[in-house]
Amino acid sequence: MIELQDVSYHYQNNSAQGICALDHITCHLDMGRCYCLQGPNGCGKSTLFRILNGLSFPTSGHYIFNGMEITEKAMRKPDFSKDFHKQVGFVFQHSEIQLFCKTVEEEIAFGLQQLRLPDSEIEARVERYIQLLHLENIRQRAPFNLSGGEQKRCALAAVLAMDPKVLILDEPISGLDEEGQEWVTSFIRELKSPDRMMIIATHQSSFAEEVADVRLQMTKEHRMTISD
Ligand code: ADP
Repeated sequence: MIELQDVSYHYQNNSAQGICALDHITCHLDMGRCYCLQGPNGCGKSTLFRILNGLSFPTSGHYIFNGMEITEKAMRKPDFSKDFHKQVGFVFQHSEIQLFCKTVEEEIAFGLQQLRLPDSEIEARVERYIQLLHLENIRQRAPFNLSGGEQKRCALAAVLAMDPKVLILDEPISGLDEEGQEWVTSFIRELKSPDRMMIIATHQSSFAEEVADVRLQMTKEHRMTISD
């Protein structure tokens, strides 16, 4: 489903070689599995997520998604990028930056409207994900004013409502209290399905142990080791 073939990424600076963020990463990621990405600060996790989300492109090597190479040129085609973004959902570490609508309901509906789904389908999905993420009591509230845990659930609802095949979560339990961490952990375990791949960056090893099928360990040399 996802293949990184010898992917390197260098940020440009004044030097000829630039700043290395990813150094010859090769991996094959399958549907139905939950991958936990770990590694020290600066090892390249955010850069890897930007590439997986089609926001940055390898300096060298190839990113193949579902048999198609994700390149800057391909992503400039609106139909291609729309189809790609439909299949890949991303929840940021600081979820509040991806919440901008006036109410929780509108936030969940927004992405579905961009997909131009029929109104009845949008309404049904909004209801389904409000219930799944226990947002009933705050459905009319402004996402901006919610607690960190509520914002995380709202962002998860908005992304999951799009039914992405690949769900990428950046530090999903950081900043949450103990109850919030436990809730998100068990929710992620329940989300595991043969039809979904999850890639989760985390600093918390105990959380990774609870949810990961496969560990992707980045090193400070910007390389990756994979262990089941
Ligand atoms: P992580 O998310 O694991 O902390 P990053 O992907 O943010 O790591 O960074 C990987 C490397 O790339 C680091 O050495 C970092 O300093 C560098 N880097 C990240 N973003 C930029 C940028 N915009 N310009 C230059 N260097 C960057």
